[in-house]
Amino acid sequence: MVSSGLHARVAEVRERIAAAVARGGHGQRVTLIAVTKTHGADAVEAAAAAGVPDVGENKVQEALAKMDQVAAPVQWHLIGHLQRNKAKHVTRFALVHSIDSERLARAVDAVGRDAAQPVPVLLQVNVSGEDSKGGFPPDELGGVAERLRDAAGLRVRGVMTMAPFEAAEGVLRRVFSGAREALRVVSAAGHPATELSMGMSGDYEVAVEEGATMVRLGTILFGARTT
Ligand SMILES: *Cc1c(COP(=O)(O)O)cnc(C)c1O
Repeated sequence: MVSSGLHARVAEVRERIAAAVARGGHGQRVTLIAVTKTHGADAVEAAAAAGVPDVGENKVQEALAKMDQVAAPVQWHLIGHLQRNKAKHVTRFALVHSIDSERLARAVDAVGRDAAQPVPVLLQVNVSGEDSKGGFPPDELGGVAERLRDAAGLRVRGVMTMAPFEAAEGVLRRVFSGAREALRVVSAAGHPATELSMGMSGDYEVAVEEGATMVRLGTILFGARTT
């Protein structure tokens, strides 16, 4: 069911991403992350079969349940808010996009130290300043990044942001270019930060024009979510 037409949609999205890279002029590689939240393990298998080995989930428990059911070798991305009491599960994910507070960063750092395996993470930045969105205010990110330099259990690979829903193009560009600047700040603080996770079904082409290296697409690949 979920897979009918998925190959064609993936092909079209990849073409649009390539065109947006060309228009934007950043020359970056873009990882397509299939957001399978609310869909079953079959969606994950379908994504893998359609040549998309990166999948995104926004809830830890839902992701863990699917991991047990999926045989395909996919990389799991945690893209939703992580509660500190679930931090121990981060070792199951290839990348945690949603480090949105220093307390959470320290909790994940502790997990990485215990495991003797730094946890790859992104710092979430709230460029738009909307109350409904998590993440660090852009003007606090430099200080946070400086303080996290001693976090041996973290590998800070970049930043993630979310734009306001159905915003005008000018607003999207301001948010996405603000995230690009935030990435520069994190990298300048000494982290191996090169990833810019931004762009969802409604705004990924603008995000890629502004330099996104990871886009997180659900609806456009799998259809509207029912839950
Ligand atoms: C659900 C979700 C997405 C995907 O949204 P679509 O509009 O369905 O593409 C991307 N990022 C995050 C953080 C999400 O929670």
